[in-house]
Amino acid sequence: MIRFRKPAALFAAVLILFSAALAEDNMEVDDISIDDLLDQPAPEEEQAPESSGEVFIPSHGSPWDHDLGSSYWTTPMDITDEETVWNMLMEPINVIDLGSGAGKNHSQRTKKNLYMYREPDENSKIVGEITNLSQGVRVIEHLDNGWSLVECYSSSFANHPKTMISAWNILVSGYIRSKYLTQVQPTDQLALVVDKLSQRLYVFAEGKMIAELLCSTGLVQKNSDGKWQPYNETRSGEFLIINMTGSLDSDKLKCAYAMRFNAGDEIHEVPHMVDPRDKTWKYNTTEPSLGSKKSHGCIRVQRLTNPDGINMKWIYNRIYSKKLVGKVKIVIWEDWQGRQLPVPSPDTVLYYNPNKGQYYHSAEHCNMASKITFTPFLYSQLEEEGFSKLKACNFCSPPRRESEIQAINEVYAPGGDHEERLNILRQGYYDYLAKPDP
Ligand SMILES: [Zn+2]
Repeated sequence: MIRFRKPAALFAAVLILFSAALAEDNMEVDDISIDDLLDQPAPEEEQAPESSGEVFIPSHGSPWDHDLGSSYWTTPMDITDEETVWNMLMEPINVIDLGSGAGKNHSQRTKKNLYMYREPDENSKIVGEITNLSQGVRVIEHLDNGWSLVECYSSSFANHPKTMISAWNILVSGYIRSKYLTQVQPTDQLALVVDKLSQRLYVFAEGKMIAELLCSTGLVQKNSDGKWQPYNETRSGEFLIINMTGSLDSDKLKCAYAMRFNAGDEIHEVPHMVDPRDKTWKYNTTEPSLGSKKSHGCIRVQRLTNPDGINMKWIYNRIYSKKLVGKVKIVIWEDWQGRQLPVPSPDTVLYYNPNKGQYYHSAEHCNMASKITFTPFLYSQLEEEGFSKLKACNFCSPPRRESEIQAINEVYAPGGDHEERLNILRQGYYDYLAKPDP
């Protein structure tokens, strides 16, 4: 068990963490030899290569003991274990509260960041950023000098007035003043899990997973000026939904049923464009990309209703009508390199319409054609004649074809780098860390 009490040991441990991140990203580390600094080997678990089938946790690669902190950070990212995921969702979340001095109103206060420092000292280097009132942190240790060591994925944003460092969605640990830490008990009326690997939103309520919806998280891409946007990568972690935004515009795209959860991060319906002729909402340019990364950082969720009538509008209305804002936990699972999507069992029952149906479904009755009772077949038949050309229904989100799962798993295979561009853009942060404090 690793526990650190002295600041010097803590500093060393933080260096281990950063050096592990450097090594994973194949960055040059000529100037830093951790063994030189520490005079002792780094923990073995940080050096072991990933193997296929490994169980990943949100604080993957962290040097801190897995028994420390709330369970979001150490619960395996396995959506099939409904009970364990539910227990994790219902645990109190540790957030920071900077108090009424952080802004004139709630909206201003929820956009403030708190810096994490390399040492328990405001003059030491800033290593990460935490968003006020929404972002959960893993508390590693409370020191008796008024400081605490915490861990989270850094909330570094573009153009945020207080963003200081470019730690785009990097898991970091550092020190904050303990007085800012507070705990919130989330509601059991609704809880959300977004998996960046499966690009699915899992909706939970009262102990059960009640829906699986298609979503899109952020994609690192160039803006219209040709500049890369590393901050598009949706930040992982656990958060509270802190504002009902309603609708919001993003250039020509309009996003309905938006809810804000991490400074400027929103979860909303897949965007639409308004047809200038008849003012109808058009989704044809945005809806087909659900199920893969696409957004500028927000989480896009399907508007087509699943067999139980659940979609983004349903989620928004439930939170609004039950006055749950500030109490709904949303968990975002990191798509760590090495994670693999499981292939469904061959016995999984799917459905289709033998009378010229073009889609396969996860349910006997689906809102795509609500009057039809679909005919069952097995997942193992999906590549056979008569089924091989069926497309996945975008109402009831049936499982992907095995070839599609394997294509994703290849990109995420151990030893690969699915976010090569993002890692290049993160180099400035590692350079900054490697420099000595002024
Ligand atoms: Zn369907």
